Amino acid sequence: YIGPVCRLCRREGLKLFLKGERCYTEKCAIERRAYAPGVHGQAHKKLSNYGVQLREKQKVKRMYGLLESQFRRYYEMASQMRGVTGENLIILLERRLDNAVYRAGFACNRTEARLLIRHGHFRVNGRKASIASILVRPGDVVTLRERSAKLARVAEAVGAVDRRGIPVWIELDRDGFAATVKQLPVRADVTAPINEQLVVELYSK
Ligand code: SF4
Repeated sequence: YIGPVCRLCRREGLKLFLKGERCYTEKCAIERRAYAPGVHGQAHKKLSNYGVQLREKQKVKRMYGLLESQFRRYYEMASQMRGVTGENLIILLERRLDNAVYRAGFACNRTEARLLIRHGHFRVNGRKASIASILVRPGDVVTLRERSAKLARVAEAVGAVDRRGIPVWIELDRDGFAATVKQLPVRADVTAPINEQLVVELYSK
C-alpha cells in the first residue's frame, strides 16, 4: 500500500500509529477528522457480523503493515500451534523482526523499521539480518550497525522512545543500540484495542 496512511486509520476509526511523531500531535487526522474517508464517510452505517469481523481483520493487518496473503499465512501458522489461535496470531505478529525493531524504538513506525532492515542496518546475534519477517526468539540480540546509529531518523526515533514505552519482553541498551529479547511476548503485552477472536471467526468460516 503506497497511498496516504492516515486514510487507513480513519477507515478503522482509531489511531494505528503508522506515521510516527505526527501521530502524537494534533495534526493527526484522527484528531481532526474522526470519521471514515470519502464522501459517505460521515454516514452512519450499521455493519453486519461479517462487516465487523472484516474490519477487525483489516485493522490488525494494517497495524502490522502486512498483505492479505502474509496475514493469512500467520493465521494458518497460529491455528496449527498449541493454545488459543487468536493469541498465537498476535504473538506471531509481535515476534516479527520489523515489529521488534519498532517496539525497541529504533524506528518510528513498522514501515520504516522494515525499510531499515531491508537496507541491512541491523544484525541479529551478530549476523546481518535483512528479512523483516524473521521471528525473534528469547535471547536474540538485535543491534543497529554503528554507523547507522548516526542516521537522523534513527536518532529521532530513539529520542522519542519514552513517549511510546518499551514492552517488557524487550530490553533496550540505548548507548549500545542493542535490544535483547528477554522472553516471548504474551497477549497482554499488546495494549492496542484488538479483538483477535473476530479475526479467527472470519477466517474459520
Ligand atoms: Fe494514523 Fe498517525 Fe495518521 Fe494519526 S497521524 S491518522 S495515528 S497515521
